[in-house]
Amino acid sequence: MQTEVIRIDDVRVQSKVLKRAGEILRSGGLVAFPTETVYGLGANGFDGEACKGIYLAKGRPSDNPLILHVANRAMIGEIAAEITPLAEKLLAAFCPGPITLILKRKDIVPDEITGGLDTVGIRMPENDVARAMIKAAGVPVAAPSANLSGRPSPTTAEAVLNDLEGRVPLILDGGPCEFGVESTIVDCTGDIAVILRPGAITEEMLEEVAGRVMIDPALVGKDAIPKAPGMKYKHYAPKAPLTLVEGAPEKVAGAMEKELLARRKQGEIVGVLASEEVLEELGSLLPDDLGYCYGAQGDLPAIAASLYEGLRYFDDTEAESLLAEGTTSEGLGLAIMNRLRKASGFTSIRV
Ligand code: AMP
Ligand code: MG
Repeated sequence: MQTEVIRIDDVRVQSKVLKRAGEILRSGGLVAFPTETVYGLGANGFDGEACKGIYLAKGRPSDNPLILHVANRAMIGEIAAEITPLAEKLLAAFCPGPITLILKRKDIVPDEITGGLDTVGIRMPENDVARAMIKAAGVPVAAPSANLSGRPSPTTAEAVLNDLEGRVPLILDGGPCEFGVESTIVDCTGDIAVILRPGAITEEMLEEVAGRVMIDPALVGKDAIPKAPGMKYKHYAPKAPLTLVEGAPEKVAGAMEKELLARRKQGEIVGVLASEEVLEELGSLLPDDLGYCYGAQGDLPAIAASLYEGLRYFDDTEAESLLAEGTTSEGLGLAIMNRLRKASGFTSIRV
């Protein structure tokens, strides 16, 4: 299969391209598309066979459910059995936006999407290409991130092409994603909001709207089984093994330097994903092409936006192992640290 990449600069001027994307989706095909979080790999959300194609293209385990992307409120009514008062509040405050609501599903939702659960994940993206594509399709669009299973999520069309060339007929290129980490998944089936996956909408933002907010215990401890099935898999992993270096910001550079020198003594080529400050301190110790700057220390939106590009960057270098600088777990930092921990397979050096 040939993969075509089409740059979309204006959804109105290029409405023909979006119409074609809608036709591919309606007829059972796949389309990769930008959202404000990461790129998605979409299929007709009412067509179980089409959704199987997503699992096949990604190599995704079949028990890991897909999120249904909608363009408007009416589409939510078609797929959710009940919109709880909690869901109403979150819809009013954050939709469209980078949040996924877990609600009881209607029978019309194919089993292939939900991995056998009686709930469904629903998201209304804000990105105008995503919205125009869903409207053109006229059906909810089932989509996980558009990467090969286990790899860092794609935040550019090039990253999608790298993973899925020959596996998807059309990639809509909307430029780099705004947030760079996936949506916050919130269980809204009860009275209390439960975060199943941290993301761009933070715990603090949810608390302001929903009062009490809980975090799925499996996200903080390692033993419990996560309620979002996808969270149990090793994920976001670059090809070279990654170690997280975390602790007081002013001590991280020293710890990195020590580890870097020790590894180099063993003949290892080491890559470093870190802040401007840490890379500056490492200075000439680190060849330019083996350092990737993810933003200024503590600039969480910048770090989130460049995290996956940073992880993917090292796949094309000679680096045999990687060190990544951790950040705070407050606010957006919770999502960043969740992804970095998973990318590291939970190996870290604490200072
Ligand atoms: P991805 O699109 O790659 O971010 O994957 C979608 C994520 O949503 C995975 O972590 C899934 O486990 C999660 N998810 C989708 N539907 C549900 C659901 N009904 N209940 C809990 N988690 C879900
Ligand atoms: Mg994913």
